[in-house]
Amino acid sequence: MNPVSSWCREYALALPEKHPFPMVKYLMLQAQLMEDGVLAADGFFTPQEAAEQHIIRVHSQRYVEEWRNLRLPETAVRRTGFPQSAEVVKRELLITGGTLEAAHIALKHGVAFNLAGGTHHAHHDFGAAYCLLNDVGISAAYAIHELKLRSVLIMDLDVHQGDGTAVLFKDVPEVFTCSVHGEGIWPRNKVFSDLDVALPASTRGTAYLNQLKKTLRTVLYSARPELMFYIAGADVLEGDKLGNLALSEVDCQLRDRLVFEACKTYGIPVVVTMGGGYAPQVQKVVNVHKNTFREGLYLYHS
Ligand SMILES: [Zn+2]
Repeated sequence: MNPVSSWCREYALALPEKHPFPMVKYLMLQAQLMEDGVLAADGFFTPQEAAEQHIIRVHSQRYVEEWRNLRLPETAVRRTGFPQSAEVVKRELLITGGTLEAAHIALKHGVAFNLAGGTHHAHHDFGAAYCLLNDVGISAAYAIHELKLRSVLIMDLDVHQGDGTAVLFKDVPEVFTCSVHGEGIWPRNKVFSDLDVALPASTRGTAYLNQLKKTLRTVLYSARPELMFYIAGADVLEGDKLGNLALSEVDCQLRDRLVFEACKTYGIPVVVTMGGGYAPQVQKVVNVHKNTFREGLYLYHS
């Protein structure tokens, strides 16, 4: 088959012991996709590092230079939640390259994935909460400027509000940002997206899916996108350490199905990134991400 998902071992670099970010999920997910026959080895492509010219469309030159040269001030490093290292820089450049390339593949084949990505808390001139570069933001800007698309939608269903992305496209009418997230959790200072839907804590599957149906209808009607970036966060799962919603694994799968069916109905190519996922059992996070692949591939390739 044509490769449809980016993947490389650098996605899962080793972090200090007890670091809360579950890097291992990227190794587990890739293995599980193959083991369960969702994607064969030839379904993956190795991403290239994103070029600076694309990155600085949305990030400040100064931030990118300091970050690449490992010269960020200590406070800025702490805010990212990652150590400052060449390996971390390389990982982020590869992830961003993966989302950029996925945009080309989606436009050709309907759907494409980044096995990581969805780093929506990265702002114009700082990184935050495990997000160093805004891979989706960089790719959306690339789609407008290089691929000459007139309208792009960022559909962010990670449990946390997409504050970085909202800032980047505040005054960019070609990019519509929509965030459906849990109310009352991080980030404390929300930044308005074009459409924000804040759900009360402990919202369960039925209420979530009903709201999502309505939101998709509204957004697809108003944005009329030629390409969608979908951040399919697994941190909407009940019991997530950093989330506050209460979806089951099945609910998450139904969520993905709603998104892909809507895209297919409206003929919108979709780039899928994984977003967060911090359930105490990493296997649950892997299951949710795996089902996202399954739903997308089923709809577009069956
Ligand atoms: Zn999140």
